[in-house]
Amino acid sequence: MSTVSDYFGSLVFDDRVMRSTLSADVYASLRKTIDEGKELDIGVANAVAEAMKTWAVSKGATHFTHWFQPLTGITAEKHDSFISPAPDGSVIMEFSGKELIKGEPDASSFPSGGLRATFEARGYTAWDPTSYAFIKGKTLCIPTAFCSYGGHALDKKTPLLRSMESLSKQALRILRLFGNDTAKRVVSSVGPEQEYFLITKEMYDARPDLRFTGRTLFGAKPPKGQELDDHYFGVIKPGVTAFMEDLNDELWKLGILAKTEHNEVAPAQHELAPIYTTTNVATDHNQLTMEIMQKVAAKHGLVCLLHEKPFAGVNGSGKHYNWSIATDGGQNLLSPGDTPHENAQFLLFLCAVIKAVDDYQDLLRISVATAGNDHRLGANEAPPAVISIVLGDELNAVLEAIETDTPYAGTRRMQMKLGVDVLPKFNRDTTDRNRTSPFAFTGNKFEFRMLGSSNSIACANIMLNAAVAESLRIYADRLEKAEDFETALHEMIKKTIKDHKRIIFNGNGYDDAWIREATEERGLLNYRTTADCMPHLLDEKNVKMLTSLGVFTVDELKSRRDIMLENYCKSVLIEANTMISMVKRNIAPAITRFTADLARQAAEKKAILPGLACGYETGLIETLSALTDSIAAKTEELETAVTALGDEADIVEEAARIRDTILPKMSELRIPCDAAETLTEKSYWPFPTYGDLLFSVK
Ligand code: ADP
Ligand code: MG
Repeated sequence: MSTVSDYFGSLVFDDRVMRSTLSADVYASLRKTIDEGKELDIGVANAVAEAMKTWAVSKGATHFTHWFQPLTGITAEKHDSFISPAPDGSVIMEFSGKELIKGEPDASSFPSGGLRATFEARGYTAWDPTSYAFIKGKTLCIPTAFCSYGGHALDKKTPLLRSMESLSKQALRILRLFGNDTAKRVVSSVGPEQEYFLITKEMYDARPDLRFTGRTLFGAKPPKGQELDDHYFGVIKPGVTAFMEDLNDELWKLGILAKTEHNEVAPAQHELAPIYTTTNVATDHNQLTMEIMQKVAAKHGLVCLLHEKPFAGVNGSGKHYNWSIATDGGQNLLSPGDTPHENAQFLLFLCAVIKAVDDYQDLLRISVATAGNDHRLGANEAPPAVISIVLGDELNAVLEAIETDTPYAGTRRMQMKLGVDVLPKFNRDTTDRNRTSPFAFTGNKFEFRMLGSSNSIACANIMLNAAVAESLRIYADRLEKAEDFETALHEMIKKTIKDHKRIIFNGNGYDDAWIREATEERGLLNYRTTADCMPHLLDEKNVKMLTSLGVFTVDELKSRRDIMLENYCKSVLIEANTMISMVKRNIAPAITRFTADLARQAAEKKAILPGLACGYETGLIETLSALTDSIAAKTEELETAVTALGDEADIVEEAARIRDTILPKMSELRIPCDAAETLTEKSYWPFPTYGDLLFSVK
């Protein structure tokens, strides 16, 4: 049997393969492109393409594709085979440098938010050599960026690469000020912890709501849910173990560093965490992971649910996004060092993040906004929609000491003079961690906890990288001109703490009192829904920051806002229509059938014993009839609200209207349906219940 190290990365055209299949010159040029962004000349591209094709064909590949991430949030691919006719009637397998570097998919069906008129359907994809090519099935997949012919980004990778570039540039300016002349790049890294649910395919197929919308729109609470806390880290069931083993194999072959797996809080909920890597590669890997989870589940007769809130009243799924920045030499800039000098630098980078998160709370909220995630944020399991940072007691005390020029009273009492004193060693607390905070410092990285399980991590990457780049830019502008670096540095750190300490909160983020304090006393933002936050993408300060750093153009921002809002509206409307159909075709008829049978049974009893009251049957008939009337009325209200849509002036208005009129009516309709479920004999109920779904995998 082969071991993991034998087949790890066997489907990836990685550095090992490059080194062994390319000539020394070609390899060196390609490395320069990968590491330093140097342009690739066509001769080198041809040689790389040839080697890639030979390698891929030897692994059974017949096709190649430019693999990209359009704004739909998933990935896209159009396959071309390598075959080319030879004069003697046979075929040869061909792949040129031109085909490797640039593709021209007909892009008219991907959302562009008006950036590309349909008559000008073509967009182009451009090879991203910083993310390795890989084989999926019989296809060589080449990670690419996707742009319109006007040069506008139509995907998530392009702005991500731009944000990484911008962060690197600004961080290097700071490092130079600290005397670092050797670092060539600063890279952001991320390790996304992915949560998901597994249910059997049989159960899934029996639920139209899951099939059409990814979440259950009805369902009474099961007698047993997550009350006993017996699932988290519990023994993994055999069906799930088999799935996880297969999943790991598939991911490892693709060079994805799947590392940790465990059961999560809710029944049927699990988590997979990879080892962190560069944000760009981590984004590609996370997209692939989500895709492969679904494929492997299907092989096991299961369905992997990636929706943020598949079950009401049961924990939803998120994605903890662990983020740090480091030099190409491997120095983690968010790790407190051993010398006063390193510590001053650490504190400056820390402050840059604090300032970024406070200044751009709205952009971080926007980066995780979807109709699905709106059900999770603030629902007592995920962090609230209000963004705050937790730093831990020790670091907090250090910042307070700096702000107030008082001695730090930690493990060692000391005056905090930057550049002079050594910071105390911070414990990397793993036990007593504040899990209610949306943004937590965890020793040498930050953990952003608001991402939904189905979100592409590109969006959070882009906003966080850009916002931190902006803080660093402001710092560098000032420090480069300072007469006395030490004093200017100290003052700037102090000022950041003073100006932005409102964003730091170490208490319970799930507490209602915090939401009140955050919004009323501290003036923090609380955008509950996608419809609330998304319009702010175009706020002047946001447009100014993102365009001046070159991460987005104004047109790209406008198009993204529109696409995200359209997506929100469409998602909710599909849910509303699914509800209406399920009620009319299944739920209401089922209750009616049950009550009619009850009535018949009561009548039969009375026929034998005329004196019987039949209180049980009559009571139940009465209650269920009242519920059915309520269901009918609420369905009609929802239908009327849906029909009334459509005359809004713009998408912002339409989204607001959907938030205000459709979503509340959907919640109201659900109540009598779930109540009826608990009273209806099981064989009459048309759908598997929560109990069936959550405990379906053995
Ligand atoms: P937990 O959050 O459960 O304590 P860990 O801290 O071990 O778990 O790691 C969670 C995730 O954070 C993993 O994906 C891990 O690879 C990633 N991670 C660890 N160190 C860093 C870092 N310096 N930068 C980015 N991600 C990191
Ligand atoms: Mg974690």
